[in-house]
Amino acid sequence: MSRTGEWQTSQSRSFQRLALPHNGYREGVPGVEVGDIVVLQRKPWRVLEIREKPEDLWPADFERAWQKVVSRWIEHEASRAAGELTSWGAPLKEQPQPVRSEWYYRPVNIVLQLVDRPKSKPRHIFASVSCEWQTLPEHFVVCRLCNELPPCRHVETEATVNQAMASAERLMAIPRGACLGCGEAITSRMKAIRFPGPNLWRPDWGKDSAVFHARRSREECSNAAWKYEQQWKEQGLDVLRSESA
Ligand SMILES: [Zn+2]
Ligand SMILES: [Zn+2]
Repeated sequence: MSRTGEWQTSQSRSFQRLALPHNGYREGVPGVEVGDIVVLQRKPWRVLEIREKPEDLWPADFERAWQKVVSRWIEHEASRAAGELTSWGAPLKEQPQPVRSEWYYRPVNIVLQLVDRPKSKPRHIFASVSCEWQTLPEHFVVCRLCNELPPCRHVETEATVNQAMASAERLMAIPRGACLGCGEAITSRMKAIRFPGPNLWRPDWGKDSAVFHARRSREECSNAAWKYEQQWKEQGLDVLRSESA
């Protein structure tokens, strides 16, 4: 539900906090209201209800985090009263006492219902008031085949498979003895990195055949060599030898 980490649909660039006061956002910026559609766990939900969680019902981790805010403030004010100075010698500034009902990490109860199933059981969740939600317009798009928001899981899987196939095809097209990064020949004057042992990417080339250009200027070669080295070490294959080809 926060902007980072949570899956996003590719059809919306709209991210909003809940339309509640003291949500850590600029006042007056439109927020998520009852009736809006938000994305959660790949699904579109209608917001049925947004309610501040009663203070005596805060979950333990929210309560602990809040108590820390309070004790930091108490400490600060005690230091200030004792005449302590900042590390650069200035007097400490007075800090306003934190207000629990205005804390922008406070928990909020939210009731959601699947948009396409208005008779389904509503889902009750809670979230920090500062969470950002991806919102959708009424006319949002779903995949014709599976009804999921785009990119649906099938498309995502396909993309991964296509990528793997493309890189396998590219590797298979590299002529024997050429750089496994850029696919170009390695001349006798070029520096090269060789990896002893079985060739992890082209087993058909036989032993001690994995080789990459050692030129730092070509990311294609050095990135591939680095990737190969990681896999090679994971397999416990000896120590890296660098030599001229
Ligand atoms: Zn689909
Ligand atoms: Zn290369």
